[in-house]
Amino acid sequence: MSGTAALSDLKQDAGRIKGVGDTLRAYLGDLGIHTIEDLLYHFPRRYLDRSKLARIVDVREGETVTVVGKVVDVREFTTANRRRILNVGISDSSSVIFGVWFNQPYHAARLQAGTTVAFSGKTEFRYGKFQMVNPAYDILDESGDGSEAIHTGRIIPLHPASAQLSSARLRRLIWNALEALPEISDPLPPSILARYHLPGRAEALRAIHFPSGREPLVRARRRMIFEELMVIQTGLALFKRRRESELQGIAYPAPGQLIQEFTASLPFQLTQSQRRAFAEIAGDMHKPFPMNRLLQGEVGSGKTLVALLALLLAVQGGRQGALMAPTEVLAEQHYRTITGFLTGMPAVKVELLTGGARAASRKESLRRITGGEVDLVVGTHALIQEEVVFADLGLAVVDEQHRFGVRQRVMLKAKGEVPDVLIMTATPIPRTLSLTLYGDLEISTLTELPAGRGEVITKALDADQRESAYALMEREMDRERQIFVVCPLVESSARLEAKAAEAEARALRKRFAGRSVGLLHGQMRKEDKDNAMQDFRDHRTQLLVATTVIEVGIDIPNASVMLVENADRFGLSQLHQLRGRIGRGGHRSYAIFIFEGKTPESQARRKAIEQMRDGFRLAEADLEMRGEGQLFGARQSGLPDLRIAKLRRDMKILLAAREEAFRLVSADPQLRRPEHRLLREEVQSRFAGTGQLEWLFHS
Ligand code: ADP
Ligand code: MG
Repeated sequence: MSGTAALSDLKQDAGRIKGVGDTLRAYLGDLGIHTIEDLLYHFPRRYLDRSKLARIVDVREGETVTVVGKVVDVREFTTANRRRILNVGISDSSSVIFGVWFNQPYHAARLQAGTTVAFSGKTEFRYGKFQMVNPAYDILDESGDGSEAIHTGRIIPLHPASAQLSSARLRRLIWNALEALPEISDPLPPSILARYHLPGRAEALRAIHFPSGREPLVRARRRMIFEELMVIQTGLALFKRRRESELQGIAYPAPGQLIQEFTASLPFQLTQSQRRAFAEIAGDMHKPFPMNRLLQGEVGSGKTLVALLALLLAVQGGRQGALMAPTEVLAEQHYRTITGFLTGMPAVKVELLTGGARAASRKESLRRITGGEVDLVVGTHALIQEEVVFADLGLAVVDEQHRFGVRQRVMLKAKGEVPDVLIMTATPIPRTLSLTLYGDLEISTLTELPAGRGEVITKALDADQRESAYALMEREMDRERQIFVVCPLVESSARLEAKAAEAEARALRKRFAGRSVGLLHGQMRKEDKDNAMQDFRDHRTQLLVATTVIEVGIDIPNASVMLVENADRFGLSQLHQLRGRIGRGGHRSYAIFIFEGKTPESQARRKAIEQMRDGFRLAEADLEMRGEGQLFGARQSGLPDLRIAKLRRDMKILLAAREEAFRLVSADPQLRRPEHRLLREEVQSRFAGTGQLEWLFHS
């Protein structure tokens, strides 16, 4: 490699780098590094500032410190009780300190005499020596690799390493790669660099791996974060642009007779938020391109009704509407809610499509839908997508609850006019995420609850306070109120979860002898589930033991207690959802969360759920505690994972990058200008593998 390095050079196999043979290539592959670019974007995990390092002689007992030294002493021995101990001494010429490991002899291979290493950990003073048990360590210089020159800067980068590839080795490979690429072209246009005072890519890459000081490092990181967010936002801008300019949608007339009749038939007034959200939706549906809007709002804020208004607008326009729920229980609940709201409107035909229905009646349903005899269809995502041929689908409402990002793009592949899509979500989405995960969508938010809701009191209890909760439950049942008890979440096994629920129901039938206790879990046969729900709805059961199948959508205004066992297992947003199942009548209600964990994190979660009533803030808190990593990738969000940006921390950069990306795409909708070619390639490569690429460009 020499001369000008085009982007294509960066996409070359990492095997092209000097010193990388087959073995090394495989080790790099284990770290997710396949191309030269992957290697250059393998950013340091942290940095050591040599000028701030403690000298070993100055270390005091009980301090948590990082020290650097050369390995001078490696000893392994076995104690009388057969524990294998590894003792590694390092010296910085001021003094010696020892790293101690029990039953982990493999560290010896990496910590050979002469290696320069950083130990981080808490110091102890034992047998007349300073030591650290199980220190975190980074290899700074492998003995004899003769590469001192690149390791002696004041700030030492520590790259995420593996057992086979030390931080020192990675640093050397990155150095070699940068040496061989004298010029690295930049996907960010010069005007943007100038506007935000960002260094070019080549400079930033050098500075992020080998910073000459703090200031250049900060600038380099800012630049790489900007680049990452800009590439993603450009992808989102392209999605949006494409939908609006190239897909033919249905231009509905404004709400008329049918909608007026319907709102007049309701026993209550729409809230301000509901009115506003519906106006936004109707505005979109009026436009000649397909709507792609997210409807979010607090639990109980009345999203279903807004969705129904949108569906009726489609019906008014002579089309069909579909409401897709994540589970059968929810589909049925929606069906019941919708038919309840529509009792005064017999002309609107609603069909429920369930997997449990007998084949004959199902066939009949499908025939009616295909024949256009049905106006609205309610079912699960899977059923509607896989089985139904609509006569004339005009609007799909996707109720995706808290499952971020299950984008229903399948329906959009229909020929001719593309139906409008409204996504409902029960978990308020923090702004940081809505700008990325849903960054190509319009957003409507319901910010208020309908009037006349009772107060909900939240209590986080220890397991040994459970009896006081039971006493409260007795009192509430004496008042003819009903109770939910939710069993611990078992992420990996619906079967184990069901077993736990069965055991809980048995125990509570004993504890509340004479009361009727129902049971509902996902493993029950469909008719048993239906019966359990119906019994509770009709107050034939007073207490319902359930798994999280009741988390969303279930609407039982008479319920006044929600007790959640082992609340540590749930996310804060989930607990908030569960809390939203009560307080739906005018009476006071109680959300009781039993926590077993004793960790500081568990304490923080208790406090958050007790004190915060705002779903948005809880979602933010969740994000902070659980991290953003989980929200991308793992949940098939359809977005590339983030390598360096952190959405919350980098909100300002996110907003700037978003603005620039949308401006750039509106000026050059296909990124055809030569100065945007690199950005285009970058977007293509970042979105490859997300299954969304075909949406970006026609090839
Ligand atoms: P969400 O889906 O947003 O959690 P729901 O749609 O389940 O909320 O609505 C919660 C309850 O409020 C339902 O019983 C619904 O009938 C009722 N509701 C909806 N809108 C209003 C309103 N404007 N005034 C009074 N009650 C309403
Ligand atoms: Mg609802």
